[in-house]
Amino acid sequence: MASMRSAVAVAGVGLLGAALAFGPTLLEVAGVPSGATAQQLWGLATATQTTSAPAATATAAPKTPALAAPKAAAPKAAAPKGATPKGAAPKGAAPKAAAPKAKKPAVPNPWPTMAIPAGVPAPAQHATHDGGKPIAYLTFDDGPDAQWTPQILSALAAHRARATFFVIGEEVARNPGLVRQIRGAGHTIGNHSYTHPWLTKLAAPQVTAELARTDALLGGTTCLRPPGGFVDAAVGKIMAARGSVVELWDTDTRDWARPGAKAIAATAVSQLRPGVVVLMHDGGGDRSQTVQALGKVLSDLDSRGYVVRPLPSCR
Ligand SMILES: [Zn+2]
Repeated sequence: MASMRSAVAVAGVGLLGAALAFGPTLLEVAGVPSGATAQQLWGLATATQTTSAPAATATAAPKTPALAAPKAAAPKAAAPKGATPKGAAPKGAAPKAAAPKAKKPAVPNPWPTMAIPAGVPAPAQHATHDGGKPIAYLTFDDGPDAQWTPQILSALAAHRARATFFVIGEEVARNPGLVRQIRGAGHTIGNHSYTHPWLTKLAAPQVTAELARTDALLGGTTCLRPPGGFVDAAVGKIMAARGSVVELWDTDTRDWARPGAKAIAATAVSQLRPGVVVLMHDGGGDRSQTVQALGKVLSDLDSRGYVVRPLPSCR
């Protein structure tokens, strides 16, 4: 079952990755990518996710698994046309000869830049500087978690960094004190649904319920990160009606795959530029590597003169 799941994920990731490879960046997209392509893209991505129900996963399984390209998929996504899915590869020369070309990067490829499709409320371009200093937006998904969130908060506090937490309602219900702690420390909170389903797979009333239940616990939110990053026009309409904007990310640290703290830290700053949005996790499994990596990332950002701030759309 696990292998089937990853096979499905790989297929989706390959296609989506290839399509996104020439897509615009999140910021550029505030205006919109080529509409049809984006729609097809998201339809495609969500279609391949059917079997990987996220909500029940507790342990290693990331709460954002869909976008979680297994290692093998990353080079594939970047590879030129010749790359074929494993099963389809002809037995002869091709695979071995082609393999060296798709060199594995020193830093694992972050998940290709996400794009918000047409018709979905997107944030205005993120501010890039605060008081003349470049900003990095660190974001933490799938908490709050009794074990990991406090450690993340300590690391952030040690560097006077303020971030954004996209929380899952059922985790909030379990850890209401942590939400107060997060807000009390100057961080902000976004809605990440109640049970972490792919919203694009739900009927409109269910989507509304997922968002409303979490908002009821939080006292309202102004921004949302859809589980897995999946959003389409139908979901976008609901967000617009709620006055919520969709926040995705530029850099996926892939911390959910637990590649080691070093790799996570390297990936986090691999696309560093003023205004970059970085995805990490404070819940959804063992986040010890994330905690370890975070200290390095924050020191690195300090030494490069960056400040860490909450996403302006999340209040
Ligand atoms: Zn998530």
